[in-house]
Amino acid sequence: MTTTGHILIIDDTPDNLEMLARVLRRAGYRVDIAQSGRDAFPMLGQTPVDLILLDIAMPEMDGYAVCRQLKAVPQFKDIPVIFISAMENLIDKVHAFEVGGIDYITKPFQFAEVIARVRTHVELHQLRRQDQQLIADLSSEIAERKRAETRNRYLSELLQVVSDAIISTDKEFNIVSWNNAAEAIYGWREADVLGRGIDEVIAHSYVDTTEEKALAALMLDGHWEGEVLQRCQDGTLINIYSSVSIITDDDGQPTGAVAVNRDITERKQSAQHQLDLMIEREKATFLRDILANISHDIRTPLTVINTSLYLLERHTDPEQRHRKLTEIKIQASLLENIIQNLLTMSRLDTLPELRLAPTHIDQVLREVADKLQPTIEKKLIRFTLDTADGLPLISADSGQLYRVFINLVENALHYTEDEGAVTVRASSGEGEIIVEVIDTGIGIAPEDQARIFERFYRADKARQMDSAHAGTGLGLAIVRSIVEMHRGSIEVESVVGEGSTFRVMLPLA
Ligand code: ADP
Repeated sequence: MTTTGHILIIDDTPDNLEMLARVLRRAGYRVDIAQSGRDAFPMLGQTPVDLILLDIAMPEMDGYAVCRQLKAVPQFKDIPVIFISAMENLIDKVHAFEVGGIDYITKPFQFAEVIARVRTHVELHQLRRQDQQLIADLSSEIAERKRAETRNRYLSELLQVVSDAIISTDKEFNIVSWNNAAEAIYGWREADVLGRGIDEVIAHSYVDTTEEKALAALMLDGHWEGEVLQRCQDGTLINIYSSVSIITDDDGQPTGAVAVNRDITERKQSAQHQLDLMIEREKATFLRDILANISHDIRTPLTVINTSLYLLERHTDPEQRHRKLTEIKIQASLLENIIQNLLTMSRLDTLPELRLAPTHIDQVLREVADKLQPTIEKKLIRFTLDTADGLPLISADSGQLYRVFINLVENALHYTEDEGAVTVRASSGEGEIIVEVIDTGIGIAPEDQARIFERFYRADKARQMDSAHAGTGLGLAIVRSIVEMHRGSIEVESVVGEGSTFRVMLPLA
């Protein structure tokens, strides 16, 4: 049976109270009995007592004294005390109330009345205790709330003084808060953006990743950070380093997101500036080297021409004079070639217009072969022009394509030893025409293959070849530009010492 309260009876002659105790127990109370005030104190500390029945006449310390002591202990002072007296006229009621008593009963007991009083006081005490508990709970809740408010105020002040934009959103990414820095960085006032979708307010693109990847990371890890380009209210684009976290409730369910965005535009710009400076410096050195190279390339044929002229003036033998004249012609045409290449390159930079017309590729290739016939014969090259029958027409600028294949075949002939083989093969692929220029020449080292299409790039091996070919390192750069202007592509395969294959793919009209 659950007790309705806990009563402690303090009396030096408890036998007298047997009856009372029994009645109270029957009424549902737990009843303990102490022989004296001294015995009572330790018992009080154990389980909370709702009421004390205290005998007045006790030998060592009378009831009044026990009561006064009880009331002096903060922990016990609220326990109601009812005095017990043998005779009503023996009790000093004023004194009893003075020392803190709440009521009194006299023997012989009127049990119904005693129980009624006991019940009232126990209930009152329990109510008071509940009230006190409630008040204690409330005040700790209030204190907690105050602490939280202070913390929140501190946080929101912090939010407003930091220089990073701090933006929080709900689950649907609608803006919930937008701090001062966000106003300063993006130019939008908080009032203008609250409730709006973040994407609608700030247009952005990711720098090193895609939107899908960033969102996937955010959903999976609850966090994403990286660089984004964002647009401000006035349209300017800024570089932002963004750190986004998903906010969850106590059950781990997402309730929104918060982004801390740092404007790194200036930092990026100064890095870009450094890079620009570096590129400028690089370009200047590059140009200086190139000019040195070209003047060297030009000087070689010029020296040959001058020497030949000098000898021409002195020779009378027609055979020798003819040889010198031929030499001069060859060198002059090399010079023309160099200048032509430089001009073509600069024209390609500024005038990317093509005069497109339906073109027979085999016809272009035949013209190239005819033009280079003297070199082929001179070097005793086994030359094959292999074009499949009925190749489709392509839409191309035949003059420019001629330049492409003159360059490729000239290189093939040049970088192949005498008596080697050069094959030009044209075939049709899927939606394209493929032309291969295959030689059995010196080949190109893998590290050079990636760079030979750059302007002015010449592999060391080519430089060392002692010959009249005054290379500029521009030929393949021109070739690639023209091919790309035709929406085609070029690739090279080569093995040093075995030969090279240049493959040009040109789309059908
Ligand atoms: P260059 O005027 O030096 O020939 P190109 O742009 O035509 O300039 O070629 C760049 C470099 O590519 C050459 O210097 C040479 O090293 C290499 N190269 C081009 N074609 C061949 C080839 N068929 N065989 C070997 N090396 C080649």
